[in-house]
Amino acid sequence: MTLSRDRIYLDGAWTAAVGTETIPVENPATEEILGHVPAGTAADVDRAVAAARAAFPGWAGTPMAERGAVLGKLHEALAARAGDIARTVGLELGTPLKVAKAVQAGLPLTVLRGYADLAAQPVPEETIGNSLIVHEPVGVVGAITPWNYPLHQVVAKVAAALAAGCTVVLKPSELTPLVAYLLIDAADEAGLPPGVLNLVPGTGPVVGAAIAGHPDVDMVSFTGSTATGRAITHAAADRIARVALELGGKSANVILEDADLTKAVKVGVGNAFLNSGQTCTAWTRMLVHRSHYDAAVELAAAAASAYTTGDPFDEGTRLGPLVSAAQRERVRGFIARAGARQVAGDAPVPDKGYFVAPTVFADVDPASELAQEEVFGPVLSIIGFDDDDHAVEIANNSKYGLAGGVWGSPDRALAVARRMRTGAVDVNGGSFNPVAPFGGYKQSGLGRELGAYGLSEFQQTKAIQR
Ligand code: NAD
Repeated sequence: MTLSRDRIYLDGAWTAAVGTETIPVENPATEEILGHVPAGTAADVDRAVAAARAAFPGWAGTPMAERGAVLGKLHEALAARAGDIARTVGLELGTPLKVAKAVQAGLPLTVLRGYADLAAQPVPEETIGNSLIVHEPVGVVGAITPWNYPLHQVVAKVAAALAAGCTVVLKPSELTPLVAYLLIDAADEAGLPPGVLNLVPGTGPVVGAAIAGHPDVDMVSFTGSTATGRAITHAAADRIARVALELGGKSANVILEDADLTKAVKVGVGNAFLNSGQTCTAWTRMLVHRSHYDAAVELAAAAASAYTTGDPFDEGTRLGPLVSAAQRERVRGFIARAGARQVAGDAPVPDKGYFVAPTVFADVDPASELAQEEVFGPVLSIIGFDDDDHAVEIANNSKYGLAGGVWGSPDRALAVARRMRTGAVDVNGGSFNPVAPFGGYKQSGLGRELGAYGLSEFQQTKAIQR
């Protein structure tokens, strides 16, 4: 069976791409080719942007509550595909099926439903003195997304942009384009007006760069690596186009002296290894008070060694492969250069597929490459600290600032959380909130996604004096 798709989606219709080249999509668990998608070109981006521009006045002029109703239909059509979504992400990314169902399919459906509901009940307009404050859509949005949560990252942008009244040209990651096709199938079925959502698959340097530099794209919303975020920002700077960036991370999980150690380590290891460690918010640095240090290392090593690595479609599997051969080589390089005490990482992994055993290093130097760079694989670093001030200093010693965790008595943990220079912190395992603002400090990004904050990223603010 092939999962190939041979069209791009422009102006409400499945259309042939200008070029004839295709991109193979690989199953990272088996190294087999699942199928191909068209390799879009700059000419396809031109056509997609023209369609989005033409559709903009009509969509922007549609009352927000009506846009919300359309998003509700899109949610219905996408929810009917939940099984296919989990399966597709299991195949093209290798996420174990159980996690794929809950996170790769469940989360984007929750986010989409949330935006449909938010748009259905628009906030009343504000008055400041003699000014009426109105919020208007930014315009044509280019959405460029990565492979690690391939539908969630698309929906976080597309649902918010459409709710705000923007029109969109979407370029999903070339490593995981198939699940984005399911969203477009749903949009086609739900009857989104032509041109409101367009899909141009292709590579970053060709399609991504054409979107980022396009004179008629008003805003680029990007999730991916910090290096690419920088390139996109440069491309958008010439025309002062708005950019929203969700980039890398190197988040700290701080385990204070008065923490519930067993829980903190268990949840911390699970967080670090979610999606084979290919998670931007992963708590890849476990910071532990000296009084618990040896016990924490032992617990983390045992937890890592208990992971079952293998076929994502096997019910018992907790860790799938990395997304590609290149990603596995990158991660192996970090492990080889670690220069720290390895306490887990020898577990057997399948011969075929891009697997890396769950790996834990203790006594990691906070200034080392392993503690500073985003590995994006199942690799956890453990670092000791002397007191709360020291913990905060190590946690903040990073060019990134995306997420983090703190464990300890509630007031003390909250005080530490407030001092962490990151966009999100979970205290004592506080759960992910899909309507809370999500985004980074420092080189982890610009702007916020999700919920009402995410919607406002796609709006301009106008003051009308009377
Ligand atoms: P990447 O930067 O290589 O690619 C992301 C997207 O950008 C892809 O669609 C790619 O084709 C495109 N692209 C590549 N070069 C481009 C260029 N020159 N111009 C325009 N587009 C270009 O990132 P990735 O490897 O796909 O994803 C992993 C990275 O994403 C990690 O660093 C991770 O931390 C980050 N990430 C961040 C968040 C967040 O919300 N902060 C979420 C998930 C992933």
